[in-house]
Amino acid sequence: MFRPDNNPPEPSTDELLIVFQKGELLSDMRSRELCLMQRRQVDDSGWREVRRQFLGYWQERPCWVLEIDEVDEPDPMQFQKGNLYHILGRVDERLFALAGRAAQLLDWERDHQFCGRCGERMEVDIQERAMRCGPCRTINYPRIAPCVIVLVTRGEEMLLARNANFPQPMYSTLAGFIEAGENVEETLRREVKEEVGVDVGELRYFQSQSWPFPNQLMLGFFAEYTGGDIVCDEVEIGDAQWFRAGDLPMIPPESSIAGQLIRTHIQSTR
Ligand SMILES: [Zn+2]
Repeated sequence: MFRPDNNPPEPSTDELLIVFQKGELLSDMRSRELCLMQRRQVDDSGWREVRRQFLGYWQERPCWVLEIDEVDEPDPMQFQKGNLYHILGRVDERLFALAGRAAQLLDWERDHQFCGRCGERMEVDIQERAMRCGPCRTINYPRIAPCVIVLVTRGEEMLLARNANFPQPMYSTLAGFIEAGENVEETLRREVKEEVGVDVGELRYFQSQSWPFPNQLMLGFFAEYTGGDIVCDEVEIGDAQWFRAGDLPMIPPESSIAGQLIRTHIQSTR
C-alpha cells in the first residue's frame, strides 16, 4: 500500500499531500482518509508552500509532505489541526505510519538547517535522504530512536505499570530507550529492573511499531518473570501491579503496540 522512495518524481496532478502548519498536522474532516489530501484540493486552497519532501508512493500515487506558511488560514469548519494523536486509531495503521514518516522528515529538515560541527548552512541532498554541509562535509540522516517495549508475564498474569507523569489512570507495558553501546536484550533487562525491580528470563520478540512521538521505533517483546518483588522507580512509575484478563485497569488502545502486547497475551492464555 505504501512504498517508501527517496527519489522525487516530476510534479504531477495525481499527487497526494500530507500537510503541516507550524508542526501541526492538518486533517480534512470531510474526508475518510483525514490527512491524505489531493493535489487539486491543496492548489485550490491557495496555501503557500514553505518546504516539501517526497515520501514515496501510496497506492502507486506519489505522496509528498508539505509545510504551509504560518499565516495561511485553513477553514476551521473543514480542517482540524493537531498532533498525530488526533488520527491515531482513526485511520488505517499504514496511513498513520505514513503521516508519522511525514512528520519526522519535516522536523528533521527544519532542525538541520545549520551544521552542528561548523555552523554553516546545510543543504538537502537530492541523491539520498540527507542534509549535507558543503564546507566540512558533515552529513545528517533522519534519526530514529530505538526503544524496547515489554510485557512481563507470570503465567496468565501481566505486570502493568502506571506512568507517574501520565494524566490518566492508565496501566501499560514497560518501555525504555536503548542506550549507546547497549544491545536490545540488555536494555530490556535493565529497564525492567530499574522501573519495577523484577528479573526476567526468556524473551520473545513480538513485533515493532514506528512511533512518531517524536521519532521512536518501538521493539515489542514478551518477557517471562523469574524473580523479585515489585519495587517501583519513584520518579517514573506511579504504581505497578500484576493483573489478570478478568480484572484489567484502563489499558492502552489496540492502535499502540502496548495495547497489542496485552491483548495478544490474553488471547494466548485463554
Ligand atoms: Zn559543517
